[in-house]
Amino acid sequence: MAETFDLIVLGGGSGGLATAFRAAHHGARVALLEPGALGGTCVNVGCVPKKALWYAGQLALGQQLALDYGFASTPGPLDWEHFRQLRQHYIDGIRGRYAARLADVGIELYTETGRFVSADTVATACGEELRSGRIVIATGGRPRRLELPGFELGMVSDDMFSLRSLPRRMAVIGGGYIAVEFAGLLHALGCEVTLHVRHRMLTDFDEELVDGLDRRMVDAGVRLMRQVEVTGLHREGDAIMVDDAVNGSNGPYDAVLWAIGREPNSDRLDLDAAGVNRDQNGRIVTDAWQNTNIDGIFAVGDVTERPELTPVAVAAGRRLADRLFGGLPDSRLDYDNIPSVVFAEPPIARVGLTEAQARQFHGDQVRIYRAAFTPLPWAVGGRKQQSLMKIVCEGADERVVGIHVLGSGADEMLQGFAVAMKMGLRKRDLDATVAIHPSSAEELVLMS
Ligand code: FAD
Ligand code: NDP
Repeated sequence: MAETFDLIVLGGGSGGLATAFRAAHHGARVALLEPGALGGTCVNVGCVPKKALWYAGQLALGQQLALDYGFASTPGPLDWEHFRQLRQHYIDGIRGRYAARLADVGIELYTETGRFVSADTVATACGEELRSGRIVIATGGRPRRLELPGFELGMVSDDMFSLRSLPRRMAVIGGGYIAVEFAGLLHALGCEVTLHVRHRMLTDFDEELVDGLDRRMVDAGVRLMRQVEVTGLHREGDAIMVDDAVNGSNGPYDAVLWAIGREPNSDRLDLDAAGVNRDQNGRIVTDAWQNTNIDGIFAVGDVTERPELTPVAVAAGRRLADRLFGGLPDSRLDYDNIPSVVFAEPPIARVGLTEAQARQFHGDQVRIYRAAFTPLPWAVGGRKQQSLMKIVCEGADERVVGIHVLGSGADEMLQGFAVAMKMGLRKRDLDATVAIHPSSAEELVLMS
């Protein structure tokens, strides 16, 4: 006899945990299946260890600035193993707290994969059957791998967090979030980085600011290879070479990172047994309410076709649980104006439309405001490190439809402005706001 629950959640990452906790909070009896480490990608091989490394990179750059300011300290390299252990200790703490909280609220944890037997029944890897009229798929994704000669000589992002030392010369292949973030932070930590970009970097971000980031990276010493067509990797002695059909073979490198996108974990769920539809990329198709095409089966997070961001998975899961168990029938995530930051060096942040998107939707009704300046900490140190900001407005009323920031502090700056945009921000609201001085953020209320 299958054990019955009010809700079964497949996946204990950002989306799955958020859904399960919120449903349990509303009194639902929940089963959660997670074969790996609680917290999923974000906690274990994503946002958290990545951001810790990024902070380490910021400290390395801060040491350089401290010298410019007149401090006598000699900047030294990071004790990688010491830092790795600190970071792991922090992550273990998060995982431990999740486990304790699951037990506290009575969520039944199965440390196994699940797959569909039918539209209301899931089988664990050990063959136990669980039944529910409500099943949430939150199985996330994994790094994309390609069938190319020597692919396995390179690493994927998961592997970066078990490295025991900083590679001296590294090739990063890709031009998306992961490639640009690792290129920046590894370079800040002292690695010689060559970034291999197929077309443009960060195609979802405002082109003008991405060009600014490109210049900043090149000025800092990141080697950028453009228009690449990587056909594989091969060894030469101890080193790895990148084979590029356009630029020829290049290297030598001590390590190579493939950062060429991710694919959804939807292929090992026996979705056909339940009849759940996927798109051509394997992502589970959902409507605005996280419903799949099958009644009682829902999906949230990276396994869907929505933006692959932790707060998106969390918010979608919580709203869904509120709708199913919390007496809030209208609860659903509004996917408009989701802010996002690439923790590049320097970080680049966006909310809303890029200039190109705004011109496409609103034609000549678009007005752009810009600021370019060197933030005070760098200017005092005698360095020219330009920050760029852009506000995209639409219509006679100058409704703000996009805000874009490139430069130090961008990551902490944009959250509040994203709230204002949700509330219907107009340019005149920015003009009416008194600046905080001296700061970089003040430029966003001083543009004319
Ligand atoms: P996941 O967190 O991937 O969780 C899915 C879980 O499902 C996994 O734990 C997996 O073991 C489990 N699972 C898989 N198959 C089964 C099965 N059959 N049965 C049961 N369980 C299963 N986002 C940000 O917002 N900010 C960042 O700074 C950021 N940095 C990132 C850096 C890197 C290097 C990467 C890779 C991602 C980053 N992301 C970031 C994206 C973010 O990590 C994801 O969007 C988020 O983790 C998605 O959550 P999820 O719950 O959908 O999936
Ligand atoms: P992205 O989709 O962001 O980028 C993939 C990149 O790989 C693109 O530049 C793409 O180029 C390039 N690419 C694909 N195939 C090849 C190839 N064969 N050779 C060379 N380049 C190739 O994927 P990521 O893996 O970087 O990240 C996945 C997602 O995770 C992100 O989209 C984001 O949602 C999330 N994430 C969020 C972070 C954050 O919030 N700070 C940080 C890290 C990840 P092209 O444009 O030409 O197709």
